Amino acid sequence: MHLVRENLFIGNITDAAEVLQNGSTQITHILSVLSSASISFFTEWRSSLAIPSKEIKKVFVGGCGSDGGSASADDDLVDCSKNCLSPQKLLYLLEYAGKDLTLVRMAVPIRDMESEDLLDYLDVCLDFIEKSRKEGSVLVHCFAGVSRSAAIITAYLMRTEQLSQEDALESLRKSCEFVCPNDGFLEQLKMFEEMGYKVDHSNPIYKRFRLKVLGDSYNRGEKIDSSKLGADPGMPKEGSSVSEASSKEGKNHTVAYRCKKCRRVVALQDNVVDHIPGEGETSFEWHKRRSGNPFNKSAESECSSIFVEPLRWMTAVEEGALEGKLCCAHCEARLGYFNWSGIQCSCGSWITPAFQLHKCRVDISTV
Ligand SMILES: [Zn+2]
Ligand SMILES: [Zn+2]
Repeated sequence: MHLVRENLFIGNITDAAEVLQNGSTQITHILSVLSSASISFFTEWRSSLAIPSKEIKKVFVGGCGSDGGSASADDDLVDCSKNCLSPQKLLYLLEYAGKDLTLVRMAVPIRDMESEDLLDYLDVCLDFIEKSRKEGSVLVHCFAGVSRSAAIITAYLMRTEQLSQEDALESLRKSCEFVCPNDGFLEQLKMFEEMGYKVDHSNPIYKRFRLKVLGDSYNRGEKIDSSKLGADPGMPKEGSSVSEASSKEGKNHTVAYRCKKCRRVVALQDNVVDHIPGEGETSFEWHKRRSGNPFNKSAESECSSIFVEPLRWMTAVEEGALEGKLCCAHCEARLGYFNWSGIQCSCGSWITPAFQLHKCRVDISTV
């Protein structure tokens, strides 16, 4: 176990087992980052271990607590419509654990894989570390103490000390020289930095990440059902997407894209996944050297298409094809194309996976 900051330690499963089995004069809280959240993971690892535990609560992505109501008493309801995690996936388990049930353990199920979604767990993990350090001392551990726990502590140092990903990791290495988050985690920590040390679901960086996770899941052969698609903005009573989106904007400023032929709303600004015009292998050099904000209006107008997240009216997507036409759900006019392997925008950028609406087939208005 290595001290990282006052009241903050990093360790491996052996360190955690030692604390849980024998208690500790130092540690009061444990954050377990293992492939399974259950305390039985320790017994499966070493059959001589039997660690007592008493559940405080389980929080699922879909926002249902299993603890008889206390989840709704605080702010633990987690909206699943805008993150990458499947609905009803366990977000975290909170329990009393160890000798005399004196330790508070939070467990998050994360595998040490490059494709694993780390971002969506960061908020709850960092908040737990912060709170635990005020009440006592926290041990953050994974299996080897090298990748997962290091990634979470790196994010924590980034947020609390406003450090870049590189500086935070460098600082952590001074406490524990062999830490080495996997490349997928490092990439996500970079996004965390670029989003200002928070996981902002409306940020284009996060939207592109979500699309990439969905593309990975398609490539693994997983079924893309409607729970993985965004709410249909043309169906006002479905879910809360439209009313929420428009009330968040405050005034009547929500930009909507409508089918040119029948005027049905097919996408909201919130559904658009921006790309940097001209970014991509086949683009010309002069495109890349453009200065200023890549997301500004003049740059966007060069693209003949907009790219959106997959939405529930795109029934062809649910049928499982690699690519296909996107037709208006009301009048069946052809609006664009989708391809899980990507489509090149007129500006030269490759968007992968791509759900493309031709600007000439849609009108822009406000709702
Ligand atoms: Zn473009
Ligand atoms: Zn139409």
